[in-house]
Amino acid sequence: MKGGSSEGATALGIGAMRTLRPTIDTKFYIHTDWWKERGRNLRLTVYERLCPACKAFHLAYEDVGDVDWVDDETAEVTRVDALWHCLRTCCSTKPDYVTVETPLVESIFRVFLGNGNTPLSPRELHRILNRRPPEVILRMLTRSRVYNGIKPIL
Ligand SMILES: [Zn+2]
Repeated sequence: MKGGSSEGATALGIGAMRTLRPTIDTKFYIHTDWWKERGRNLRLTVYERLCPACKAFHLAYEDVGDVDWVDDETAEVTRVDALWHCLRTCCSTKPDYVTVETPLVESIFRVFLGNGNTPLSPRELHRILNRRPPEVILRMLTRSRVYNGIKPIL
């Protein structure tokens, strides 16, 4: 069956870029390798960001397994992590998921968790968060210390 959409290749298809220096239009996302290399648990980190009701529902971050995820736009069904699915469909839609008091870099991390880790540029993050200029976001994301695996696609 032939599909009309070319979406889904965005994470890999940026071959034309010569420079290795990220700009405000360079896409960033959470690199899961970064977590594996450091032996850190992304699921636990997702669990910590669930709303109180979902935390109580799941009780522990382990053993919840995968669920079927039906994409709203394409109706495509995939198996996804149940905790992450819960965060996307419930907790990330609550008003206190990201507030003005959430540190900027943590807000950015939460945006990626909430959108299923779809790559975004500092310019796009600025539009979503409506805080700090794209240049400031770029500087925060390219400091020597990587925050929760958020790195550019280069
Ligand atoms: Zn929730």
